[in-house]
Amino acid sequence: AAASSGGLVAYADSGSDAAVEKPQLPQRKKVVVLGTGWGGTTFLRNLDTRLYDVQVISPRNYFAFTPLLPSVTSGTVEPRSIVEPIRRVLEKKGEEIKFWEAECFKIDPQNKKIHCRSNLGTNLDGNGEFLVDYDYLVVAVGARVNTFNTPGVVENCHFLKEVEDAQKIRRSVMDCFERASLPFLDEEERRKNLHFVVVGGGPTGVEFAASLHDFVTEDLSKLYPSIQHLVKISLIEAADHILTMFDKRITNFAEDKFGRDGIDVKTGYKVVKVSKDAITMQNPGTGDISVPYGMAVWSTGIGTRPFIVEFMKQIGQGNRRVLATDEWLRVRECDGVYAIGDCATINQRRVMEDISEIFRVADKDKSGTLTVKEIQDVLDDISMRYPQLQLYLKSKQMNGIADLVRSAKGDAEKESVELNIEEFKKALSLVDSQVKFLPATAQVASQQGQYLARCFNKMKDAEEHPEGPIRIRGEGRHRFRPFRYRHLGQFAPLGGEQTAAQLPGDWISIGHSSQWLWYSVYATKQISWRTRMLVVSDWTRRFIFGRDSSC
Ligand code: FAD
Ligand code: MG
Ligand code: MG
Ligand code: MG
Ligand code: MG
Repeated sequence: AAASSGGLVAYADSGSDAAVEKPQLPQRKKVVVLGTGWGGTTFLRNLDTRLYDVQVISPRNYFAFTPLLPSVTSGTVEPRSIVEPIRRVLEKKGEEIKFWEAECFKIDPQNKKIHCRSNLGTNLDGNGEFLVDYDYLVVAVGARVNTFNTPGVVENCHFLKEVEDAQKIRRSVMDCFERASLPFLDEEERRKNLHFVVVGGGPTGVEFAASLHDFVTEDLSKLYPSIQHLVKISLIEAADHILTMFDKRITNFAEDKFGRDGIDVKTGYKVVKVSKDAITMQNPGTGDISVPYGMAVWSTGIGTRPFIVEFMKQIGQGNRRVLATDEWLRVRECDGVYAIGDCATINQRRVMEDISEIFRVADKDKSGTLTVKEIQDVLDDISMRYPQLQLYLKSKQMNGIADLVRSAKGDAEKESVELNIEEFKKALSLVDSQVKFLPATAQVASQQGQYLARCFNKMKDAEEHPEGPIRIRGEGRHRFRPFRYRHLGQFAPLGGEQTAAQLPGDWISIGHSSQWLWYSVYATKQISWRTRMLVVSDWTRRFIFGRDSSC
C-alpha cells in the first residue's frame, strides 16, 4: 500500500487557511470519484467540496466534450477546443481536491478500498500501484467499445471514443488520400484506399459518416481533384434501419439524404470479420461478401469494462451485463458505492413486485377493497417510486387513476367502484411494460452526476435526521427522491448544415434551422468560457476558410 489513508489525511489537513475558517469540519468523509468524463465531472462541479475530503482518479487528466468528437475527425473543431483540464475544473472549486492520473483496476467493497495503477511512475515495489480508502465511492468510469469479439476489429478498425481516436482517424483519412495519389498505384488500388467504411448506424456512426462526407465534398475534392470521383463512403448496419433510436421520420430522412449524397447505406448486413485489406459482411440473402477498404471506423455500441465485470461478480451481479444500481444510484448490497453514467444502469423496481404491499398500504380503512379516493391518496407516492405508472396512464390516454379503475371494472360502472386485490392487480398488470432503460448518453450521465452531488450536499443533514423527509408508502422514509431523468431531446447531425432534432413531446425538426439550434446548444453546453470561445472560433474559421487538411 503506497498511499496509506494516514498520509492522505495529513496532506488534506496540512496548514490551509480554509481549514481554520471551517473548524466544524475536521473529520470529513472521504469521497473518491472514479472517472473525469460526463458523469464524474458533473458530479464534481456540483458537489459542495467543503463537506468532503475529495479524491479524483482517472487515467485522463481532462474532461472531453464527446458530442464534438465527430467534428474533430474532419478538423471542423480542434482537439484542444473540446477538452478541459480536470485540474482547472477542480481549482475553480477553491478547495484542495486531490487528483491522481491513474486507473482503478479493482474495487474492494469489504474493506472500502480501491486498487489503482499509474503508468507514469513506480513505487518501491517497482510498479505504479497504490491503494485508496473511501467512505463513499462514485464510480463514473464509462464504458468500453464493444467489438462483439468480431475477429480483426481491434487490429484493423478505428474507434471513435476518445480524443486520440478522433485525431488518429483524421490522420488516417489524410493518409488514405495521399496514398491514393501516389504515382505507382493503379485505379483499383486508388479506389480501395478511398473506400471509407463506417460500421454501426447509431448516432455516432451516422454523424461520423456525414461529417466525413462533408469534409470530402467541401474541402478534399478541391485539393485532390483527380481522384475525388473514386471516393466511396459505406455505412454498414445490422438492423433494418439506421438511427433506430430516433423517430421514423428522422430515420427516413437520414436514409434518403445519405442516398442522395452517395453514401452507400447497407442495412441488414452484419460484419463478421475484418482483415488488413477487406471487410467481410453477411446478409441472410447473400452469404459472405468481402469488400476492400482503405479505412474503417467501428462504432457498434458499448460494453462493460473488465474491472467492473470483476466487481459485479464479487457483489453477486455476475449474471448481469451492466452494473445495476437502485433508483438512488446506489450499487445494491454495497455500502457507500454509487455508480453513474455509461458504466451502470438503474434497475427500476416493478409495480407488480410490490403490488400486495401497495394494496395493503393504500387500503387505509382495511376494508379489503380500494376506492378511487384511496388509490388517489397514494398516487403521488406510487408515481414517485414507479415512474412507469404515469407513462402507462399517458400511453393509454387515461386522465388519471379513475380511468384505470373504471377500465378494470368495465366502463358501465360509476364513481363508487371499488377494486379488490385481484382487480387491482389486473388494472396495473401492464404498467411495468413502460419501464424505460436510460440511454448511454452524456445527458443521462450529467443529470445523474448533478443529482448525486445534490444528495451528497444534503447527506450530513440527512444523517442527523435519519428519518428522511421523503415518505414512500410501504417502504418507509427515504432521504432523497429517486433519480428522475428529464429528456431534453436529441440531435442527429446529418451533414450539409442539416441536423435532425427530436425534442420532448415528439417534436421533430429537420434541416438548417435545427443545425443552428445544434450550434447554439453545443456552444451553451461547453463547460468553460475558454472551450466555448475556442469551439465558436473553430466554427467561424471553418465557415470562412474551410477545414484544414494538413496533418
Ligand atoms: P465517460 O464520459 O466515458 O467518462 C469515463 C471516465 O472514466 C473517463 O474520464 C475515463 O478516462 C475514466 N476511466 C476509464 N477507466 C477508468 C478506470 N479504470 N479508473 C478510473 N477512471 C477510469 N451523448 C449525448 O448525450 N449527446 C451526444 O451528442 C453524444 N455524442 C457522442 C459522440 C461520441 C463520438 C461518443 C463516443 C459519445 C457520445 N455521447 C453523446 C455519449 C456520451 O459521451 C457518454 O454517454 C458519456 O460520456 C458517458 O459519461 P460517463 O461519465 O459515464 O463516461
Ligand atoms: Mg465520468
Ligand atoms: Mg466524457
Ligand atoms: Mg447508464
Ligand atoms: Mg378500502
